[in-house]
Amino acid sequence: MAPDATSEQLDAVVDTVRGAGGSAFVSRGVHRTIVGLVGDIEQFQTLNLQTFAGVADVVRISTPYKLVSRDNHPATSPVNVAGVEIGPATFTFIAGPCAVETPEQTLAAAYMAKNAGAALLRGGAYKPRTSPYAFQGLGEKGLQILAEIRDEVGLPVVTEVVDAHDVDTVAAYADMLQIGTRNMQNFGLLQAVGSIGKPVMLKRGMNATIEEWLMAAEYIAQRGNLDIVLCERGIRTFETATRNTLDISAVPVVHALSHLPVVVDPSHSGGRRDLVVPLSRAAIAVGADGIIVDVHPHPDQALCDGPQALVDADLDQLTAAVRDLPPLLGRRLS
Ligand code: PEP
Ligand code: MN
Repeated sequence: MAPDATSEQLDAVVDTVRGAGGSAFVSRGVHRTIVGLVGDIEQFQTLNLQTFAGVADVVRISTPYKLVSRDNHPATSPVNVAGVEIGPATFTFIAGPCAVETPEQTLAAAYMAKNAGAALLRGGAYKPRTSPYAFQGLGEKGLQILAEIRDEVGLPVVTEVVDAHDVDTVAAYADMLQIGTRNMQNFGLLQAVGSIGKPVMLKRGMNATIEEWLMAAEYIAQRGNLDIVLCERGIRTFETATRNTLDISAVPVVHALSHLPVVVDPSHSGGRRDLVVPLSRAAIAVGADGIIVDVHPHPDQALCDGPQALVDADLDQLTAAVRDLPPLLGRRLS
C-alpha cells in the first residue's frame, strides 16, 4: 500500500481478495503496510488491484510457470530420446550437420558424429533462414534421408520443425523435435508439439528472457508433453565478434528455476569453429546436461553454417573433452 493509504483503502483490497476466494495477510510496518496474497494468482490478476486507491504496487512473487517449475517438482526430469537419456546423471553429446543436403553428406556427417562419441544425430530438413533466397532445406525428402541414416548408423535423430502443419510429418520420422530460436514464441507451433508423443528440444529465442523461455516451455507442457529439453543457443547483445553471445549463466539459472534438462549449442551461439571446443568445455563445467554441435565433412561446401562446422582436429579435441570432463562432474556419457 502507498505510505498514505487509509484503512478504508486497505480494507477494500483485503475484502476484494477474500471475496475472490483468496487469503490476504496484512503486515503493518512503520512506514507502510504490505498485503500478502495467497490463492489463485491468475484470478487475482483479473481483480486489477493495481488500480485500487491506496495501492502502490502489485508484485508477483511466485513464478508464472507451474508445470516446468522446480517448485512443484524438485528433482530434474530426465528425458528419454529413443533410449538415450538426457538428464542430471548423464552428459549427452548431440552432433550432425546443420542441414541435410544430400544422402552422402548426411551419412558422412552422421559417421563423424558417431565416431566422435555422439549419442544423437542432429540435422535440419526444414531450415528457418534469415534470407528467403538461402537454402531452405529438403523438407520431407530430408526427413527420409535422416530416417534411413538413423537405421544405418544407429543414432536417434533430432530435427527441427518450423511450421505447426508439419508437426505430424516431422514426428513420423524424428525421435526428437527441435523448436529453433526464431520460433520460440510461435505459440501455435508450441501447442502443436505439446500434443505429440515425442520429446521436444526448445531452443531459447535469441531475444528472449529466461522467464519468456520457460513460459514457452510451459505452453508445450500445458498441452501434455513434459518431455522437454531446453537449449541455450546464445542471445543478441551489442557484441559483434560472435554471432550471438552464449549466455552460459543461463544453464545454472534455469536449473535452479526448472526441473527440465538444459543443453548448450556452442555452434549457433558463437557461429565460429574456433569457439566450439572452448564453449563446449564451459558448458560441461557449468553443469549443462549436453551439447548440440554442427559437424560437416566439407565445411567449405556446406549450404548452411559452414564456418561453425567441426572437422578433423577440432572434432578430435571435442571428443576428448566430452569423454574426459563430464566424469569429473559425476556424469556418464549417454
Ligand atoms: C539449428 O540448430 O539448425 C538452428 C537453426 O539453430 P537456431 O535455431 O539456434 O539458430
Ligand atoms: Mn545452423
